[in-house]
Amino acid sequence: MRVLAILGILAAGCDAGTPPPAEVDAGLAGPDAPVDLPSIAGTPVASFETTSCSTGDVLPLSRQIAAEVDCINPGQLVVFEESATIAFVGAAVLPYLGLDARTDLYAAAAAGNGKVIEVTSAFRTVVQQYLLRRWFELKRCGITAAAAPGKSNHESGRALDISNYSAWVTTFGANGWAHDVPGDPVHFDHLASPDIRGADILAFQRLWNRNAPDEPINEDGSYGAMTEAAIQRAPAEGFGIGALCAARSLPQSSTDASGAASASENAVDSSTFPMCGS
Ligand SMILES: [Zn+2]
Repeated sequence: MRVLAILGILAAGCDAGTPPPAEVDAGLAGPDAPVDLPSIAGTPVASFETTSCSTGDVLPLSRQIAAEVDCINPGQLVVFEESATIAFVGAAVLPYLGLDARTDLYAAAAAGNGKVIEVTSAFRTVVQQYLLRRWFELKRCGITAAAAPGKSNHESGRALDISNYSAWVTTFGANGWAHDVPGDPVHFDHLASPDIRGADILAFQRLWNRNAPDEPINEDGSYGAMTEAAIQRAPAEGFGIGALCAARSLPQSSTDASGAASASENAVDSSTFPMCGS
């Protein structure tokens, strides 16, 4: 479903002296010219505040953000893979970690004597955290705590939630992963890795400005009212233009906007799996 509620914004700049539309575009648009739609068209993130309980609904947009983070500072976020000993539980896992965190995750997996690490959450973007926070504020989805957008450990690039954590506390501890958040047993942090919180916000701001150049927001890596308003309107399916790296190509960026499953197919309820809100 494509929601074009943002079209109204485009009209906001018109005044009484504006010529009729037919005259405005005369001579500019040929027969094959694209329709003048904003490239932020799509299902607005805010629509999931009351209709969903899965951050998987904004996974395509979140993958774009992760890819843009990697453009800003290559190596900050690397993909980790499922394997015989690492399983993703649910459809909301965004499998990115800092490089050292990934190395130690793989080391722990190798030291587990064949046990499977059940990952319910890894990297989380500011868009996903926005929804978790709203669900918490609206007392939805069984969420009992949620950090403010920009503040979650899972935006740091060094956090994991492990549903079968009790089987892994010792092995993770021996491989650089701290079981360090009281009252949040599924949560682990790789504290030796850099905390990149804010990079996801900057990445979102860059994506927004790339796709909505007429409505620019500050690219400061800080979460404020402008960024929040943009997140609410951002397309869950991803922007028309994804991550762009100046010096290298990113194979994952070009397909995210169109190749992802529709949001409604990611029907996993975040409350079904032990995924922390912090
Ligand atoms: Zn967690």
